[in-house]
Amino acid sequence: MGKRRKSAPRKKKHPARGRRRKPQSSTESGVFLRFYERCPKIAERETRSITLLKQSRGVPVGQYGFLETFCQDPSCDCRRTMLLVVRHELDGSRPEHVLTIGYGWEPLSFYRRWLGDLSGLDMAGDMKGPVIEPNSPLCAYGHALLDLFAESCLSSPRYVERIKRHYELFNKAP
Ligand SMILES: [Zn+2]
Repeated sequence: MGKRRKSAPRKKKHPARGRRRKPQSSTESGVFLRFYERCPKIAERETRSITLLKQSRGVPVGQYGFLETFCQDPSCDCRRTMLLVVRHELDGSRPEHVLTIGYGWEPLSFYRRWLGDLSGLDMAGDMKGPVIEPNSPLCAYGHALLDLFAESCLSSPRYVERIKRHYELFNKAP
């Protein structure tokens, strides 16, 4: 399906290291794959969403699902997720991928170590996040949505534990 311009695909390049310009189908970007693809039952039960019955700080009414994706490079242990934020109308119709959020649950020191000497550009901060990913769709209310997500989801230790557990399940899944 993909069109390769260069000779060999370069699997190792990490989105957090930048330069990933090509917005593929926008559902999968590079080595990241949806949790749902490997653990559909758990993903159905345990994917977080927010329902806004009225507009909040510029974020329109709707249902926002936060679909976890994880890195599928078996040699990589980057310990972060990219969340595809999919908005539906309140009746469940018209799904649209509106934003991509990056988030790493480890302390900043972990990502500094992980990046080694490349960390001068605060890439560790971008890996830890939560940030709007460079390959995210453009979203007029993206920052407000990011704040909303941080305040209502990431503030919950149970939610963060859940993401970590999903990461482990994802990596163990066949
Ligand atoms: Zn990785």
